[in-house]
Amino acid sequence: MANGLPDPPCGLLTADAARSLVDSVDAFLFDCDGVIWKGDKLIEGVRETMELLRKMGKKIVFVTNNSRKSRRQYSKKFRSLGLEVTEEDIFTSSFAAAMFLKLNNFPSEKKVYVVGEGGILEELKLAGFECFGGPEDGKKNIILEADFHFEHDKNVGAVVVGLDQHFNYYKMQYARTCITENPGCLFIATNRDPTGHMTSAQEWPGAGTMVAAVSCSVQKEPIVVGKPSSFLMDFLLKSFNLETSRMCMVGDRLDTDILFGQNTGCKTLLVLSGQKLVVLSAPQSLSRVQ
Ligand SMILES: [Mg+2]
Repeated sequence: MANGLPDPPCGLLTADAARSLVDSVDAFLFDCDGVIWKGDKLIEGVRETMELLRKMGKKIVFVTNNSRKSRRQYSKKFRSLGLEVTEEDIFTSSFAAAMFLKLNNFPSEKKVYVVGEGGILEELKLAGFECFGGPEDGKKNIILEADFHFEHDKNVGAVVVGLDQHFNYYKMQYARTCITENPGCLFIATNRDPTGHMTSAQEWPGAGTMVAAVSCSVQKEPIVVGKPSSFLMDFLLKSFNLETSRMCMVGDRLDTDILFGQNTGCKTLLVLSGQKLVVLSAPQSLSRVQ
């Protein structure tokens, strides 16, 4: 025990630490962007690591905040990179948004407005919800003429905001009018990541930037369903017979991946975006990570 913190709270992943981590874990939860791939490029060593862990009998699950794709589309992306991963082992924030509405008995006669991409629309439709917006509204413009009044669907009962490369003023106003003028309209964010590895060359604005814009215009905080919220973990536990204390969350962000692992009682492993340095941390040891 040092400085009142458990010993060892965190440290570099040495060969000994890696062995003891693998022995103490039945399942590894991997973030995707910046951990498995950057953009469409597989990170070096991922295929070999997955093969080794599977040979050792470890369960491998993917938990991503990127809402641009559905579980089906992610499974396709894994296959295109030479990795065999089934839809059931992929938990996305787009899926989380649909499951959140389902679990909360969102009325079937109400509609969902989407600020985001195809992944959110596909998951909502698969869950049986009527939804619109998304890429189609990316082409819509607003001309702010005198006395112009913006019309919106009064039957929208939820607005879901995720990463949207076609984010614009029209979508912001649509989301704003639904949230402020439709009684009881839910404001759901897939996640609040400030940035993400949308391409292998650099980082780009994340869903958190779109969420912040809508949140600012309505002066309200959203319900967050992706990491670090523990909502996805509840689903994961229902799907697999696993204990969180024997899981390890592997990610490249302290504020989402590592916090999600800590919030849900997992061991955590921070990878610095494909760089060689790796830090191992135990729950509640975030303050010791340098
Ligand atoms: Mg990441």
